[in-house]
Amino acid sequence: MAEEDPNGNKENTSDNSPRWGPNNEGAKTLKNLYTKEKRIQELISFYTCVVLLLWHFYYILNNLYSSSFGYTFFALFLGILSADFASGVVHWAADSWGSVDLPIVGKAFIRPFREHHIDPTAITRHDMIETNADNFMLAILPVSVCIYLFHFRPGDVSSFYNFSVYVWFFMLFVCMTNQIHKWSHTYFGLPAWVTTLQNLKLILPKQHHRIHHVSPHETYFCITTGWLNWPLEKIRFWTALEHCITAVTGVEPRTDDMKWTK
Ligand SMILES: [Zn+2]
Ligand SMILES: [Zn+2]
Repeated sequence: MAEEDPNGNKENTSDNSPRWGPNNEGAKTLKNLYTKEKRIQELISFYTCVVLLLWHFYYILNNLYSSSFGYTFFALFLGILSADFASGVVHWAADSWGSVDLPIVGKAFIRPFREHHIDPTAITRHDMIETNADNFMLAILPVSVCIYLFHFRPGDVSSFYNFSVYVWFFMLFVCMTNQIHKWSHTYFGLPAWVTTLQNLKLILPKQHHRIHHVSPHETYFCITTGWLNWPLEKIRFWTALEHCITAVTGVEPRTDDMKWTK
């Protein structure tokens, strides 16, 4: 007998070894690979990034005269689009390539993606740090570069101010991406403003993200707003990229992911 869970996975309930969900043996193994060291890396990444984002925002406010309202709105839009695209690239790379067995990065950064496919609701049980810290870590370097420029080249602010506003919005949405992704898997207790944003398609809607969760998880990788999923699928962006990589390296995509779902 096959059942479909709210996240679109078909669960085989005919034996004692479910293919999906928290009782899947692979899901349990992956959950147990979340270590104390990983938690420390997440705590450092999260709080460092919060301080840096606020520091960068302080410089932006202090130099507001360097830009216009129109540009700020444009930078916001471009930042959201960039974050959606970046979420797709990172998600696609981690889903399709590499292995949990890789030294350091495997357990620390690829493991959560494998866990998410065989137990999509696990993310709804993760706290704020486990859900968001790796995304916050990605924002540390770009935001640090902007702070460096404001601090050490105050005379050149007009030359980098607009770009730095774009970087700030881009990184803000990178930081918010996995929280938005978590909400797309949360079916109970969401605040009304979150479901409103989902219904308006301003953040990743639930039904939209279900398309990615149909095995073999080979499309709809963008998880900030999902706006780029349809056009990227139309031009077969991910498939073309995978063909190029396989042609050069001989490695097939998703071999590690399929190993875990079995
Ligand atoms: Zn995925
Ligand atoms: Zn998901």
